[in-house]
Amino acid sequence: MRVTAAVMEEKSGVFKLDGIELDAPRPDEVLVEVTATGICHTDLHARDGYFAMPYPAVYGHEGAGVVAAVGSAVEHLAVGDHVVISFPWCGECEHCRADRRSYCQRGRELKSLGMRADGSMTMSRSGTPVYGSFFQQSSFATHALTPARDAVKVRRDAPLEFLGPLGCGLQTGAGAVLNVMKPEAGQSFVAFGAGSVGLAGLMAAKLAGCEPIIAVDIRANRLQLARSLGATHTIDNAREGAIAKIWEITRGGAHFTLETSALPAVFRQAVDCLATRGTCVLVGSARRGAEVSFEMSTLQAGRMVRGVIQGDSRPEQFIPHLVDLFVAGQFPIDRLVTFYDFASINQAAADAVNGTTIKPVLRMPH
Ligand SMILES: [Zn+2]
Ligand SMILES: [Zn+2]
Repeated sequence: MRVTAAVMEEKSGVFKLDGIELDAPRPDEVLVEVTATGICHTDLHARDGYFAMPYPAVYGHEGAGVVAAVGSAVEHLAVGDHVVISFPWCGECEHCRADRRSYCQRGRELKSLGMRADGSMTMSRSGTPVYGSFFQQSSFATHALTPARDAVKVRRDAPLEFLGPLGCGLQTGAGAVLNVMKPEAGQSFVAFGAGSVGLAGLMAAKLAGCEPIIAVDIRANRLQLARSLGATHTIDNAREGAIAKIWEITRGGAHFTLETSALPAVFRQAVDCLATRGTCVLVGSARRGAEVSFEMSTLQAGRMVRGVIQGDSRPEQFIPHLVDLFVAGQFPIDRLVTFYDFASINQAAADAVNGTTIKPVLRMPH
């Protein structure tokens, strides 16, 4: 079928809306009419050539929408279902079989090679292939073709236009806290980076009863938002000595820190401010080759550094749970979202980079 997609023609170019031919669903796939899709930094990393994905390409991996067609073997979804599309996984490797699918051995290629798991392609233009299947969804388009198992059914009374980022960035932050740290009430929590991932973690820490909750960033607007979402303290990392201040607020170091910045110097701060037996969870995606150093004695004192992908989430359980919390007013993701028309995708991408918006979400014209 003919759909409209935001096509990237060359490395670090501009997005151009264009007509694309999209395959019909195979037996195990669903076609989703995209209602809205978040922009995540990974989309922009792909645009800038961090992955092997060639051009022309269509990105987008935080899609939410309505099922428009299902493949013949799909049983758990029907036309009209509301879905959030989450990350891809192979289902066969050691980690998928252990139900730790965000660590899928084929995860990177399924996200960023621009084709299905079997190497076939889903998009073309005037008979020439276009690299789609980004995160097996390429939701910067009016319609997305995705493996049925990556589409998570959500309740119909939740406003669908807010839900796409739960499929990546927001479950990453919330899952790092609720699935990995599992803090007890009264334990201290620090978010390094008050973007969408850090703020989702902060909201989860508030739900868990953490105290104090500290947000560290260099942008005043983000720190202010963090305070209104539950931070008891904020630190401007450009002006204040974060480690000394965290040490003072927590009286001896933080129980849990969440590193979202992907900057080596900030990652080190997130480890150096830990209490004895404290845990730092790393979720920020650094470029290959980025290195960081610690003092070995710091880690030896029972401190832990744990890398986490997608918040250790089992999306079909965790995303509906987060939607319930959102509807109940306890996980106010609407406070993070700024909507843009699909045609304004280049403005939305620029605002994501310069930090004026926390989570840009593109609304599709239907
Ligand atoms: Zn993402
Ligand atoms: Zn796998």
